[in-house]
Amino acid sequence: MTDVTKSYWMEVPPIVGKTETPRDGSIAVIGSGLTGASAAYWLTEYGFDDVTILDYESERAATYRNCGHILYGTVESMFALTALHGEKTAKEIWQFSIDICHEVRDTIRRLKIPADYRQDGYLVMAIDKVEEQEIHQSISLLNSMGFESTYMNQNQLSAFGFKNVFGGRFEPGSAQAHPVKFRNGLIQECLKRNVHYHSNIRVSEVEESNNGESVTIVSQKGKHKFDAVVIAANAYSPLLSRFFLEKRLIDPFKGQIIASKPLKNTIKCTIPHSFDHGYEYALASQDNRLIIGGWRNNTPGGEIGTYNILPNPTVETGLMRFVEDHYEIDEKIEWEYSWSGIMAASKTGFPYIGPTTSPRIFTCAGYTGHGFSWAHGSAKLLAQLMSGVETPDVAKYFNPKI
Ligand SMILES: Cc1cc2nc3c(=O)[nH]c(=O)nc-3n(C[C@H](O)[C@H](O)[C@H](O)COP(=O)(O)OP(=O)(O)OC[C@H]3O[C@@H](n4cnc5c(N)ncnc54)[C@H](O)[C@@H]3O)c2cc1C
Repeated sequence: MTDVTKSYWMEVPPIVGKTETPRDGSIAVIGSGLTGASAAYWLTEYGFDDVTILDYESERAATYRNCGHILYGTVESMFALTALHGEKTAKEIWQFSIDICHEVRDTIRRLKIPADYRQDGYLVMAIDKVEEQEIHQSISLLNSMGFESTYMNQNQLSAFGFKNVFGGRFEPGSAQAHPVKFRNGLIQECLKRNVHYHSNIRVSEVEESNNGESVTIVSQKGKHKFDAVVIAANAYSPLLSRFFLEKRLIDPFKGQIIASKPLKNTIKCTIPHSFDHGYEYALASQDNRLIIGGWRNNTPGGEIGTYNILPNPTVETGLMRFVEDHYEIDEKIEWEYSWSGIMAASKTGFPYIGPTTSPRIFTCAGYTGHGFSWAHGSAKLLAQLMSGVETPDVAKYFNPKI
């Protein structure tokens, strides 16, 4: 039995590449998800003109399987981020995360991508008193650093159709969009710019060759030589790169989502939202479906270390029960979609952006669940690094060689 199920977003078919064997060239980008499509796009923006995208089994990409949230911040709350890295670093990272969210918005506007983009904020809800305390602490830290964030009490959350929640943090700048439409828009732009795009190329090795003068990619179609390569395979990177495998930079983990049929009554909260330290995350689709993911923290092992994207029935029922416990919905919900995807947890908690041990092999990976904005923004930073233009100071936190 195949483990590939279709996500709600994949009703819009993801564009695929040619199946012919690629020619040798200047820069190869391995992966065509948000990172690969963004990297190819930014590389052409920064003047590179011979770019080739390669992908394999792209229907598995997390890009087509996420929740559509474009969020300020990282996987950690500001409270946790400050505790881990100190206030100065936390502030710099947070500001960068805001800039890259806006980068997604600006790209959508610039390229006129019809990606259902809405900048309507993000609501983080506490499901117990301890989490509520952390929400208060995060708000006061964010406000003291000059970032906008406000508290929402139980009455306000109940007006949004939630129950059994203890308070929330709202920040107005985050956004949502259709991930496949956004990625397709980037690919279309790349094709217009003569980027070569080849699908069904299963890369198994990426190594320097010719005394460091080039990089050889090995695939089932043979050996392909490029001047430089960008590994944009996120969770799949250790399967094709010795650098990732040996340094153990990232761990794959499975995320799972269910989506209802369109509900009869309008879903009251249409902004991206999450609960329980972000472990459950949800969205209302434009056709009034409830889309909710998470629950992996309630499974033995937390779904870490797997590449199997067959949905786990325990997670499915857990998510359905979570909806009964936390949403006031006065109708029977029929669940129509259930899918999973593989994300990459990074060892540092930050993505890896830049050259690997070879100055010709680059990467952008490890977004720990926040890849929509981070993939697009990290790819821009990488293109800047590769083209030698000045990069923001914050790049120092993302060095893959650490
Ligand atoms: C259930 C779920 C919910 C999520 N929700 C959100 C959210 O709401 N907001 C958010 O910001 N992030 C979310 N994420 C994370 C986000 O989707 C990812 O971080 C992001 O899509 C990563 O993009 P990527 O292009 O780096 O990797 P992917 O989209 O996983 O793409 C990997 C690429 O590598 C290629 N590839 C793999 N192996 C090979 C090989 N051997 N040879 C050639 N090519 C190969 C594939 O074809 C594919 O194109 C979620 C993820 C999941 C799974």
